Amino acid sequence: GANARATRASRHVVRAGRFETERTYIMIKPDGVQRGHVGEIISRFEKKGMVLKALKTYQCPKAVAEEHYKDLSSKPFFGDLVNYICSGPVVAMIWEGPGVVKSARLLIGATNPLESAPGTIRGDLAVEVGRNVIHGSDSVESAEREIELWFGDKAGVVDWTPTITPWVRE
Ligand code: ADP
Repeated sequence: GANARATRASRHVVRAGRFETERTYIMIKPDGVQRGHVGEIISRFEKKGMVLKALKTYQCPKAVAEEHYKDLSSKPFFGDLVNYICSGPVVAMIWEGPGVVKSARLLIGATNPLESAPGTIRGDLAVEVGRNVIHGSDSVESAEREIELWFGDKAGVVDWTPTITPWVRE
């Protein structure tokens, strides 16, 4: 009956909590948003089995873009990069899953879209390194730094585990 079903469901919720996970910061850049690729990109992460923990549209202030890319501040393209990221709304997200930092980078593809494999987001959707549609953290440490930078106020960040998890993870 309903009670047994509820018990089974809650057992799955409890069991799902045991899975090891990590988090990554993913951002659809302004070109990806303007070109209408938000749905397709989110869909690729969902289909892979990654779990969406936060999502917002955001008009990035220059200071945030500069902080995000501070390791590249000596590069000749740094000014253009900051202007590009601030040129329109981005979609900022936290995704969670096993090895999600590396796994997301594989879904995204190489930095230069001319070198990213077909089937990857950049390989399928982009041609220029300065318009490469999406960002994904390059290490667990960068991910935690970027999540703090973009979601430091915790607004919209939800800790939840899909009830389907035991059918995705063993
Ligand atoms: P990734 O985004 O794949 O981690 P990087 O951290 O090396 O790559 O670079 C950050 C972003 O800077 C790239 O995604 C791209 O938007 C931009 N970028 C990198 N290299 C160049 C370049 N040679 N010319 C213009 N923009 C670049």
